[in-house]
Amino acid sequence: MADKTLFQKIADGEIPSDMVYEDELCIAFRDIQPQAPVHILIVPRKPIPSLDDLTKEDQELVGHLFLCAKKIAANEGLHRGYRTVFNCGEEGLQTVPHLHLHLLGGRVLRWPPG
Ligand code: AMP
Repeated sequence: MADKTLFQKIADGEIPSDMVYEDELCIAFRDIQPQAPVHILIVPRKPIPSLDDLTKEDQELVGHLFLCAKKIAANEGLHRGYRTVFNCGEEGLQTVPHLHLHLLGGRVLRWPPG
């Protein structure tokens, strides 16, 4: 069996995290290097490497990640708005090869991003 990804180890409790939400399909925990007052990663339990690896069978799962983002944003009090981001690949600056949706908020987020 392939080695576990960093985020699978977090899901399995082998690496500590500040978990804010979990269900049968995904987990959500605070980013260790927050880029905004609220910075949470929403991660499917299924270890899909990146957005580029999604298939038709993942369609509902991806929708679920966004619905979780909305729920978590409300729990975090992000009533004035927030941003969700999937970084993908080298130029997208993805560093962890396990699909994850960034949820950022708690300050005005600049556009365009860096
Ligand atoms: P990306 O660069 O889009 O792949 O995002 C990976 C994110 O994972 C970065 O924002 C990191 O700060 C975050 N990260 C890496 N290791 C951990 C960890 N052990 N716990 C929480 N967040 C982490």
